[in-house]
Amino acid sequence: MAQGGRMSTHQVVIVGAGPTGLMLAGELAVAGVDVVIVERRATQDLVGNRAGGLIPRTLECLDQRGIVERFLAQGTRHHVVGFVMAPLDITDLPTRHNYYLGIWQEPTERLLAAWVEERGASIQRGVEVVAYTQSDAGVAVKLSDGRTLHAQYLVGCDGGRSAIRKGAGIELVGADASVSYLIAEVAITEVPPVGIKHTARGNTGFGPVGTGRFRVVVTEAEVITGEAPTLAELRAALRAVYGTDFGVHSPSYLSRFTDATRQATTYRAGRVLIAGDAAHVHSPAGGQGLNLGVQDAVNLGWKLAQVVHGTAPDALLDTYTAERHPVGAKILKATMAITAANRGDAQTAALKEVFTDLLAIDEARIRYAGLMTGLDIHYDLGPGHPLLGRRMPDLDLDTPEGPRRVSQLLHTAQPVHLDFTGPRRVAGPWVLPVIGAVPAPATVTIRPDGYVSAVT
Ligand SMILES: Cc1cc2nc3c(=O)[nH]c(=O)nc-3n(C[C@H](O)[C@H](O)[C@H](O)COP(=O)(O)OP(=O)(O)OC[C@H]3O[C@@H](n4cnc5c(N)ncnc54)[C@H](O)[C@@H]3O)c2cc1C
Repeated sequence: MAQGGRMSTHQVVIVGAGPTGLMLAGELAVAGVDVVIVERRATQDLVGNRAGGLIPRTLECLDQRGIVERFLAQGTRHHVVGFVMAPLDITDLPTRHNYYLGIWQEPTERLLAAWVEERGASIQRGVEVVAYTQSDAGVAVKLSDGRTLHAQYLVGCDGGRSAIRKGAGIELVGADASVSYLIAEVAITEVPPVGIKHTARGNTGFGPVGTGRFRVVVTEAEVITGEAPTLAELRAALRAVYGTDFGVHSPSYLSRFTDATRQATTYRAGRVLIAGDAAHVHSPAGGQGLNLGVQDAVNLGWKLAQVVHGTAPDALLDTYTAERHPVGAKILKATMAITAANRGDAQTAALKEVFTDLLAIDEARIRYAGLMTGLDIHYDLGPGHPLLGRRMPDLDLDTPEGPRRVSQLLHTAQPVHLDFTGPRRVAGPWVLPVIGAVPAPATVTIRPDGYVSAVT
């Protein structure tokens, strides 16, 4: 498909059709932006299962666009989220989605991609971004097939090794790895012990992923970074933990990850923005990475749409870093805490016991459940009503067009203004996760991402 030297122009180019790039493309397409995704992978197949599911705030964001049912139909609901090895009950959180949805990353990406294409955005697969330049006029993006794409903005959703981030000179800072793990999906000749085994350095475990095949994660005896692991290394690591390698063979996936925890110092450099793993890397412990990326995309999407449509100044894009960097930093810290709690020495076991005891206190459980579900997010929009900067509850409304949920009014990704002073009132309840009951407002303005931007 070489089309040497041909140029085309779009309002936004996204690099990477992982969950973040797909969500962003969907958000932009719904808002009427001419957007294209460039993806190196030729197909939607994903090596390894990767992310295991979606947290309540991500489900609410999908509900706001009218697509959550597609995910619910393919997933499994669990009314708990994990924190430092203590399962936190989330049944009583005030949300329609008071559960974690177990769904692997590949079906998640397929569902998002189908939505993106329905909305008319193009996903160009099997082609790579090899270089780019930016100027006051725009961005020129060179592709591996010889084409150049021109755009007003370029968004790097290109994963932890993001070339877009590096090209923009954005630094990634944070903590080095304290532990490394091998992860694989393998066939096995002996029956392995399914479940988690605590070792001094962290957790190791087997889980079934299909007939005769298992996903295994094993903590390595010392930190190893950067190299592609071998089956021999996997076998040795298993022998070190279990005394046997269970005859593992035929890996369909074998990789290494660490708990290195790093965040970009800014998510924007001129006309170049970054989102998802391109902006933050951390241990998968806690299951937050995909969710964090999808929510970066939801925060950035409407802002970028308004800027390219000329209805908001370019400075609106600076609020993307201002709002999402603190949310990312908090989650990164939580994944470090979870990693520390996963160590299996006697002292950490004692710490875990103390924590588990504390998390039995409702207020503590709800505080951490708020963090791990994304329902506690508070963008700093200044002082005022507790709703300001927080997610709008998905209340049932009595509208002139009949009964509606708030989330249905957000399907078109436009701001929504609600006036509760007229004859049509909302029953409430006005209850926010973690915060509790708040005074009923007279009017509320909701941003396209579902966060409240004004209250009277
Ligand atoms: C073992 C494991 C378990 C995990 N479990 C969970 C979990 O339970 N919950 C959770 O929320 N997260 C989990 N994660 C994290 C999750 O997988 C990532 O956070 C998520 O994939 C990030 O999405 P992304 O779109 O930002 O980046 P990616 O998924 O990495 O997508 C980036 C895309 O960009 C493409 N690309 C890169 N460079 C270029 C280029 N130059 N040109 C064109 N295309 C390019 C890549 O091919 C890729 O498709 C887990 C990760 C791992 C490894």
